[in-house]
Amino acid sequence: MTQQTTAHWHAAAKSMKIRAHGIIGGKSTQAQSGKTFASVSPIDGAHLAEVPLMDSADVDMAVASARTAFEDGRWSHQPPAARKAVLMRFAELIRESRDELALLETLDMGKPIADSLSIDVRAVANCYSYYGEALDKVYDEVAPTGKDFFAMVTKEPLGVVAAVVPWNFPMLMASWKVAPALAMGNSVILKPAEQSSLTAIRLAELALEAGVPEGVFNVVTGLGPDVGRALGMHMDIDGLFFTGSTQVGKYFMEYAAKSNLKKIGLELGGKSPNIILSSYRDTAHAARVSANSAWFNQGEMCTCPSRLIVEDSIHDEVIEVLKDVAKTYAPGDPLDPATSMGALVDARHTQRVLGFVDIAREEGADVVIGGRKTREKTGGSYVEPTIFDNVTNDMRVAQEEIFGPMISVISVKDQDEAIKVANDSPYGLASAVWTDDLSTAHKMSSKIRAGMVYVNCYDADDMTTPFGGYKQSGIGRDKSLHALDKYVELKATWIKL
Ligand code: NAD
Repeated sequence: MTQQTTAHWHAAAKSMKIRAHGIIGGKSTQAQSGKTFASVSPIDGAHLAEVPLMDSADVDMAVASARTAFEDGRWSHQPPAARKAVLMRFAELIRESRDELALLETLDMGKPIADSLSIDVRAVANCYSYYGEALDKVYDEVAPTGKDFFAMVTKEPLGVVAAVVPWNFPMLMASWKVAPALAMGNSVILKPAEQSSLTAIRLAELALEAGVPEGVFNVVTGLGPDVGRALGMHMDIDGLFFTGSTQVGKYFMEYAAKSNLKKIGLELGGKSPNIILSSYRDTAHAARVSANSAWFNQGEMCTCPSRLIVEDSIHDEVIEVLKDVAKTYAPGDPLDPATSMGALVDARHTQRVLGFVDIAREEGADVVIGGRKTREKTGGSYVEPTIFDNVTNDMRVAQEEIFGPMISVISVKDQDEAIKVANDSPYGLASAVWTDDLSTAHKMSSKIRAGMVYVNCYDADDMTTPFGGYKQSGIGRDKSLHALDKYVELKATWIKL
């Protein structure tokens, strides 16, 4: 945790020189059209930079540069030990640039500076170290085909890989894809969300400084329907790995089908059920952790435990604890190190999130606390932590991803009903069960259709475990050694002896 003051961060923000450009072939690049779009801070509406508004012509240039780099082997043919050294250096440079990267992230998308420093930048650096450390431990195989043949199963990089990412953890979501893709020898084109382009640009600059060769890590900035679509439809991209909404994820399946059937990986939305049972010894603790996890990052989290499913007998106690915890999440200045809830990413998203308050009321739920815009004088986008009670699982606030600081509380009579409600969702990303009964914990976690199940916790996290969802929460996994498989082709070579 930083020792710096609010005044320090405001002064640093004022004097910061923000570089906004794409990176193609290792060079700072403007859009060929000359067009730009404004990057506006959700903290106070301040204009941060003009970012290149790239389009398909710029995407073509980035793909050509990535293809040339891949084919001439400047990265793809380097010995694993050499790529490892570069990725480890890259991780070190990220650590050395901690304050700058954290400040950029906070200015660009509004999260508290304390979180950017202690969570985002740290996790990003660890991600590059993890895959740097892993890459020279990946072995190929000899298949047990019998003595007449020698059959090798080797892993080869896909080639040119694109990553299209969202704005809620801009650097981290990008790194969960860029790091394993680089580790396996691919050339990468990163498209950040238009709401949060700035740290992607800085990351690519640091990669160059660390020794990632020109053309191996490109950044194209611009809008989803232009740049994102052009990447999805490109005939010379071998794999496209997306994190974002389920709706846009489906477009990428379509783009792949309509173009070259590039490999697609999808990390999509969620509406995660968090079940607190009366058999857990400390209801208050469970409710506290649940509230912290739901309101962390302004609730702008794919894994946000936004459906809090509680047994009737403990419902009232849970609500009281949530109300207490909400007091510690009063939105504040994101540049104040004591702030725990910052600004939502932009005014449009804020309007969408607030729309769910009317929807909740119309459908018959109670708004226990919150539900309003706050800190309006700042010119920024702030929403109070909000609790909806008496929610039933068919309501839109229980079915749709809100992506804001809102918890929907659903009462159930027992475990069986809890499981039914938990699984009654198009999503299957994260989930949790709180119980002290070992058998219940095992049975329930195996019945929940979700990629991640937390038992008696919600905030567990490590690079070593896979991350991703069942159902419409996605296809494939980020993180852990399993993620490496997405970025390789398997080749079987038969040699007649
Ligand atoms: P989004 O789907 O609107 O945008 C994500 C990316 O897709 C952006 O870069 C955007 O420019 C691009 N895009 C938008 N429209 C496009 C189009 N028509 N064609 C091609 N590209 C397009 O998502 P968002 O609002 O940036 O992020 C929030 C979503 O991300 C939530 O649904 C959240 O759950 C999800 N998310 C998932 C994970 C996960 O690991 N499963 C992690 C973080 C966020």
